[in-house]
Amino acid sequence: MPQQPQPLAVILDFDGTITLKDIGDLVIGNFGREGWRAADEAYDRGEISLRELWAVEVDHLRAEDHEAMRSAAVDVAEIRPGFNEFVDHCRSKKTPLEVASSGIRFYIDAVLENAGVPDLPVSAPDAEYDERGHGVVTFRDGLADCGMTAMCKCERVWRQRRLGRQVLFVGDGASDYCAALQADYVMARAALAGYCEREGKEFTPFDDFFEVREFVRRYSGS
Ligand SMILES: [Mg+2]
Repeated sequence: MPQQPQPLAVILDFDGTITLKDIGDLVIGNFGREGWRAADEAYDRGEISLRELWAVEVDHLRAEDHEAMRSAAVDVAEIRPGFNEFVDHCRSKKTPLEVASSGIRFYIDAVLENAGVPDLPVSAPDAEYDERGHGVVTFRDGLADCGMTAMCKCERVWRQRRLGRQVLFVGDGASDYCAALQADYVMARAALAGYCEREGKEFTPFDDFFEVREFVRRYSGS
């Protein structure tokens, strides 16, 4: 590891990274109306992109379930061990930390609020509802749409780079593939670890956030 070449910024995926399970999948699985599974199968066959799959899945959510989805997300979400300690460490060392997710803000905000970190910067698509009450994926100002996944996480990496920082990206899944290749350092588990191996991208495996904290400590020498 280089000797503190530049300050470090950390970008975290949410589903399956901060949380043990994929909360987006659980929300769709429990609240998605009849019909979304066909899109899931089409994605598995490689016929549609992750972005197209997500648009279909969100279309199968309903406005009337909004509050129930938020509370269900909080009920099922288990936070990966060491997360709060990791956030505290980054804050005490003034290491910029942000969440970049292809999930939906309403459940991410609910889970982070419940975990005691409501003020963590989050970039993620929003879900709004059309006149029929069907979900529609939307983006707040400053967030870039992406043709491959549901939100451009690479743009979040590049933004930190422009600010003169090296980037540690921490993730687990398909929506992290592009961004991981752009990051200076990667901590990966599950599918993302396999992807990094196939692509020859160096990464550090992790199971909990104590390991991520250790990486950040070693990087900054404190
Ligand atoms: Mg994930």
